Amino acid sequence: MQRILNQINNEFRAPATKNYLPVYDPSRGIPYAEVPDSNEEDLEAAVAAASAAFPAWSATTPTHRHDLMVKLADLIEKELDTLAKIESIDNGKPLSLAKAVDIPRAASNFRFFANAITQFSGDAHSMNEPNAINYTLRQPLGVVACIAPWNLPLYLFTWKIAPALAAGNTVVAKPSEVTPMSAFRLAELSVKAGFPPGVLNIIHGTGAGIGNAISTHPKIKAISFTGSTAVGGKIASLAAPRFKKLSLEMGGKNPNIIFADCNYDEMLATTIRSSFANQGQICLCGSRIMIERPIYEKFKKDFIEKTIQLKVGPPLDPATTTGAVVSKPHLEKILSYLDIAKSEGGTFLCGGKQKMLDAPYDQGYYVEPTIIEGLSADCRTNQEEIFGPVVTIMPFDTEAEVLGYANDIPYGLSTTIWTQDISRAHRMAKDIEAGIVWINTWMLRDLRTPFGGVKSSGVGREGGWEALRFFTEMKNVCIRF
Ligand code: NAD
Repeated sequence: MQRILNQINNEFRAPATKNYLPVYDPSRGIPYAEVPDSNEEDLEAAVAAASAAFPAWSATTPTHRHDLMVKLADLIEKELDTLAKIESIDNGKPLSLAKAVDIPRAASNFRFFANAITQFSGDAHSMNEPNAINYTLRQPLGVVACIAPWNLPLYLFTWKIAPALAAGNTVVAKPSEVTPMSAFRLAELSVKAGFPPGVLNIIHGTGAGIGNAISTHPKIKAISFTGSTAVGGKIASLAAPRFKKLSLEMGGKNPNIIFADCNYDEMLATTIRSSFANQGQICLCGSRIMIERPIYEKFKKDFIEKTIQLKVGPPLDPATTTGAVVSKPHLEKILSYLDIAKSEGGTFLCGGKQKMLDAPYDQGYYVEPTIIEGLSADCRTNQEEIFGPVVTIMPFDTEAEVLGYANDIPYGLSTTIWTQDISRAHRMAKDIEAGIVWINTWMLRDLRTPFGGVKSSGVGREGGWEALRFFTEMKNVCIRF
């Protein structure tokens, strides 16, 4: 059984407690590795290393940081096959998905922010006052923390670490204890790339074990968090009174709004992906599908037909389109929502239960892709984040009605709208309460654009300049000459 370690000051160290947590292979439901169960002592060592490394790292040129980050991106790309396999085994996602999306994106995150930092600049304001000018510096914050979830492990971990390092901060990063294996390989690769000791420290453990300590540590200046809304709220309650900068990317329950005039074939193919990709465990998945009434019955028939063709199977099998969900507790959560949907009067059009595979996968965590109809917009199934391969469908008649369904929810991460009417597309995009709107597409990403949600889905934005602004502090200098 592989045992991974914390990376502190470029050394690979056992946790202070010498305690480890099991890491499960969700495809078979068995432990296959061990991850440090770190505590405050480990965090203290990581923060000390990051603090010691900060003066020299923050004084390096953007070009120097660019070169190291590009080296790391190259190493990730070189290890595409190995890293994709690590991610697939650890998370349960199809190997093909890890290979096409997760790992290439992790490399892109480093490459993108390596380039972005060479273009980043402060502002200057010449004044009405004669002979006076202001310039605004953008300086790194110091030691910052990055906390990531399990659904896109290396993809989201690097989405935070890359801008933090590019901006000249030193980093203490914590991946999810549920999927820590690709983060451990990243730690090894960062040493190989030549990052100096203490610049990137990766420590493992639970939210309760070190998460709270990160949120309250006086030397951690900022926390970039992606995960559930409940945990985001907890971090905010601890960090806000200590005046830390916070970026919170949290849960979603996104509407997928389909008008009768849409490009039907493209909509149908994309809706299969936006419903069930990564077993529905993407914060951007459109789990509430709203269809204009004239095409409701046709959509229902075609969508069911395509959904039952999805191949639920072992993540490493090339034929698999839908792998295992990430853990037993998460499997149980999804199944409990299927019970809730039943008790709320939902009709299951397909799926609706755990999928049992043959040995050696008979203890794995598989769920049949599920479509439910007949539920009201305000029931729990339609209001709470399930985060599995489960969607609801409902008809609508007017723009005002569907806008009400879409917005009447605590979340506001993303929305997809399908229509060929350009005026309607703009009208809807303006009135939707979400941080991200896709029209006639889904999850088409440009890393320069602001990424994040409103309401209970998020505070702040990641991506492009926004991320570099988050990881820097402004200092205005006013000069009379
Ligand atoms: P989670 O909130 O349980 O855990 C996320 C991370 O926070 C993990 O590393 C965990 O160990 C850590 N953590 C837990 N308790 C903590 C505490 N008290 N203090 C500090 N850290 C703590 O989320 P998850 O189950 O890993 O991920 C699924 C959730 O993430 C879903 O709600 C999903 O919508 C959300 N998500 C959001 C986005 C986005 O961009 N908005 C992207 C991906 C996932």
